[in-house]
Amino acid sequence: MGIKYKRILLKLSGEALAGEKGFGLDYNVIKDVCRSIKECSELGVQIGIVVGGGNFWRGRSSGAMDRTRADHIGMLGTTMNALAVADVLEEMDVDVRVQTAIAMQAVAEPYIRNRAVRHLEKGRVVIFGCGTGNPFFSTDTASSLRAAEIEADIIFKATMVDGVYDKDPNKFDDAVKYDTLTFGEVLAKNLGVMDSTAASMCKDNNLPILVFNLGRPQNIVDAVKGEPVGTLVQGE
Ligand code: UDP
Repeated sequence: MGIKYKRILLKLSGEALAGEKGFGLDYNVIKDVCRSIKECSELGVQIGIVVGGGNFWRGRSSGAMDRTRADHIGMLGTTMNALAVADVLEEMDVDVRVQTAIAMQAVAEPYIRNRAVRHLEKGRVVIFGCGTGNPFFSTDTASSLRAAEIEADIIFKATMVDGVYDKDPNKFDDAVKYDTLTFGEVLAKNLGVMDSTAASMCKDNNLPILVFNLGRPQNIVDAVKGEPVGTLVQGE
């Protein structure tokens, strides 16, 4: 079977990298995810990855600390994840580069859009650390921004649930999963697919998002082949 998407932006939440522990890094989980990333890369898919940082730190839940400073710490957390994922991919012989929105030359390349695209064209996986590089934003917003910049066909939002539901499936037995949604519906119904800044950016730039469960890492491979997984959010 061929591939449906030539270039994807994969958003990996920090939470997903922590596994059952809920904090820090679970290398067994990361290895499973990286195996699927490698498989997609070998199928010829160009892959950019934005990593979250919630497994280490979330600026908005840092209590009394100045928000900007708390977000700086959050962005450093995303970079720890970026380096960890890069290391596991390298271990699997996948060609990978880390680029950070806040320059830290000793550990990674600075984010340069054209350079990132060049890496992708050469078949290298590019991991984007530090989110957007700005406080008050999220790694979801960074995903829509980077996806727009690198002209990705789609954002893959790999989460802990198998798609978007009308209500929280962990709380309500009768929650119903959507197969498809429009951005208008996501914003009007406040469905919590991603924050509204990120959702608006995708809407305005006509960037579809596929939301699916990373608990089954093979979903990434199925999704690039166009098999029905998760919930697809797109324009009207
Ligand atoms: N963050 C930020 N600007 C960005 C992206 C992230 O300030 O562009 C900070 C923010 O403090 C956020 C933290 O990094 O809480 C971790 O990112 P996020 O919460 O998006 O990670 P996820 O929930 O996806 O693991």
